[in-house]
Amino acid sequence: MGKINSKGIKNISGADALISLLVTIVFVIFVVLSWQHYDDQIRESRRNKINLTGQFINDQFGAVINDNIELLFNLKRRIEITNGAYLQYWSFDAGLIIDQNPSFKFIEWIDSNMVIRKIEPVAGNEPALNLDISNVGYRRDQWIKSSLDSSINVTEWAQLTQGGNSFLVDAPVYYNGTFQGTITAGMVFNSHFDNVMAGREEYHLSLYDEKGSLFYEVGEDNISPLAGDYMYRAEIPINEDEGQVWTLEFSPNTAFFEDTVWYEGKLELILGLIISIMMGITLFLLLRSYREKKRITFINQKLKKLNVALNKEKIRAEEASRIKTEFLSNMSHEIRTPLNAILGLIDILQRQDVGEESRKYLEMMNFSSKNLLGLVNDILEIDRIESGKIELTQKDFCPLEEVRMLLDLYERSFEEKGLKLELQSNLDDGVVVVGDSLKFNQVLTNLLRNAYKFTQKGGVTLKYSEEQKGQFLLLRIQIADTGIGIPKENLEHIFERFSQVESGYKRKYEGTGLGLAITRKIVDAFGGEIEVESKLGEGSVFTISLEFPLSHRQPDRKKVQTELQQIKKRKVLIAEDNPMNVLVLSKLLEQFGIKAEVANNGVEVLEKFSEASYDLVFMDVHMPEMDGLEATRQLRSKSLDVPVVALTANITNESREEARLAGIQDYITKPFTREVIQKVLYTYLS
Ligand code: ADP
Repeated sequence: MGKINSKGIKNISGADALISLLVTIVFVIFVVLSWQHYDDQIRESRRNKINLTGQFINDQFGAVINDNIELLFNLKRRIEITNGAYLQYWSFDAGLIIDQNPSFKFIEWIDSNMVIRKIEPVAGNEPALNLDISNVGYRRDQWIKSSLDSSINVTEWAQLTQGGNSFLVDAPVYYNGTFQGTITAGMVFNSHFDNVMAGREEYHLSLYDEKGSLFYEVGEDNISPLAGDYMYRAEIPINEDEGQVWTLEFSPNTAFFEDTVWYEGKLELILGLIISIMMGITLFLLLRSYREKKRITFINQKLKKLNVALNKEKIRAEEASRIKTEFLSNMSHEIRTPLNAILGLIDILQRQDVGEESRKYLEMMNFSSKNLLGLVNDILEIDRIESGKIELTQKDFCPLEEVRMLLDLYERSFEEKGLKLELQSNLDDGVVVVGDSLKFNQVLTNLLRNAYKFTQKGGVTLKYSEEQKGQFLLLRIQIADTGIGIPKENLEHIFERFSQVESGYKRKYEGTGLGLAITRKIVDAFGGEIEVESKLGEGSVFTISLEFPLSHRQPDRKKVQTELQQIKKRKVLIAEDNPMNVLVLSKLLEQFGIKAEVANNGVEVLEKFSEASYDLVFMDVHMPEMDGLEATRQLRSKSLDVPVVALTANITNESREEARLAGIQDYITKPFTREVIQKVLYTYLS
């Protein structure tokens, strides 16, 4: 048979996880790269803004410096054009320039001997007046150079003799063909630069002279840690011929980044990462569900194959069961037919005067034969129940009536054994219910037989009570005996198959150990309960509780009684080829005052019916020439509806169904006892 093997599919979830992880990583890389690109763009746009502003300021600063130098140049030109005459008015003009231009701190006239001859304003600059700058190290060489090539000279950020710092700008003056001296201005551009920088609090700016001395700085209080990243550097050419340049450093300070929120750019990154992870998880789930689907399909296919195999097995098992049933059916017939004859003959012999010794042998034969028969019957019965073939018929019956009838049947046997058999019930007429009366009888018979069997003195009391509950009748039946009792340790096992208190060769009591097992299975099928209480040496009490639906029809008991009297007048036909069986059945019927007629096969049955009419036919199923089933079919085809009770050893469900289809109302199994025959007569002739 096939086996479900989902190997190789189960472990795939590891591969799914790996694939999902790789896809997630790819997405994460993509998101990080995109984010970096975006971040770079933001940085680039900031850098552009800073650079453009820096450049603009640089230009502005350059213009400030040039404008101021130009002013000084104008002054120099006026002196040159007037061949020095203008020098007399020089002080006035210089004063005007200083007043109007805050970058000019002072203006002085240094003659060709390098002595400061004039200075405007004088106040505050007195120490510089008449100062010989040839003694000032940083001035001398540059000044001389400037005077020789007539170029403008701008000094480094200089420490002044009169105190303070400024740039010194020398403009050499020539007239009358010779160098006369320089117009020199002390310049500090701060206020102009401040104007340019006004409103630009978000920047930090530093200006260095060519020596690297810082001479102007704004926004130094809140320099941003990112300043280095965005630093804009530019040079302001001061004296291009000399390669003299100032350096401007321009960078954003913290105010520049004030509008920037912490998540700028990062939000996209975080969202992107979350989406990537979610996509990875979704992919994993999708892959898993795909695998799961594939796995289920795989298992389904396996199951389908398994089903096909199981079906084949089922068909084989059914075939085996059919063969077994056939075998059991044949066996039961084969064993029970001769047994029937044996028991019948024993019964006849026992009624005759055979002498003491033979009577003893006959009793032993009777005991063994009945035991064998019981065993065969019980084995067949339990086989039928356990193979699930227990079928409960649904017919009207009166449980109290059944109980009374049963006790009637057993009365004589109990009397013969010197035992009392008593019914305790305060009911006159029982209620009619719907159910399987045969099975109900079987339960009571098993319990009564045991009570009879295991009781030597005293007797058996059957307590019967009914209670109507809605549409149901609740029955409680107790069978109490004064017999040998059951040991405590055996109580819980006696309902099991082949369980007997006594065992071995010393057994005193006949039995198969199957009766109570069958009884309990029937009670279970009824949905009822069976209990036992017992005391060793004092007796046992078996209690059954059953429930049946109430019937709508209730019988007229008096009428039944009257009709029973009429049984004797009825005509009965026995159809049986076995002379032993004919003898047994005729003798039994005689006990009810009935003189039955006999037909040896189906053909004779039809002949008999062509001559007379009958009230009941006991029909053997297996007969030569024409069997019982065919004979019944023929009777029914002639519209004869006489009750036909089959005599058969075969009690399988199949044979029962076959008999029913042929038109047989009932059946009794061989060997037939007085009790069984009496019941048939009650049923069909009353
Ligand atoms: P058996 O065919 O042996 O009677 P049962 O299944 O009917 O099989 O009973 C099983 C055993 O239970 C009996 O062999 C007997 O030992 C015990 N038992 C059943 N009923 C009674 C009883 N009324 N009194 C004493 N023992 C009983």
